Amino acid sequence: MPKAAEKKVSAKTASASKPAATGYNSIEPYKAKRGEEYMNEAQREHFRKILRAWKSDLMEEVDRTVSHMKDEAANFPDPADRATQEEEFSLELRTRDRERKLIKKIDATIERINQDDYGFCDACGVEIGIKRLEARPTATLCIDCKTLAEIKEKQEMG
Ligand SMILES: [Zn+2]
Repeated sequence: MPKAAEKKVSAKTASASKPAATGYNSIEPYKAKRGEEYMNEAQREHFRKILRAWKSDLMEEVDRTVSHMKDEAANFPDPADRATQEEEFSLELRTRDRERKLIKKIDATIERINQDDYGFCDACGVEIGIKRLEARPTATLCIDCKTLAEIKEKQEMG
């Protein structure tokens, strides 16, 4: 058995099955020039691009869920199988609902960019920062206010 040839084949298969970075994940982090103004047009365009890519990722996900459910909507004669399927469907519906809400939030965020009302904390007005926004493009609070809000929320629940 020629070992070298075998290795070559498996390496080829591995590289072919590796998914290419697409959509949201393929967008490079923003490199600000020295002294660049925060939330200038170039930065706003960068975040519009992120949000649009994220939205189209989500919409593809929603489409996949719908077609998957159509494919799977078979009539199982066994009640136990039917129950499992119904559970799976309700889980998928909840996921889809969450995705729809997120898409709405993304739309609202793009609208805020267009109105030049993006990237500043809703509570204290400081710059949220490029890095934090790249990690959480729909963030409306700076990290300090977010942390404070989470602590308050926990106290109110406790
Ligand atoms: Zn703040």
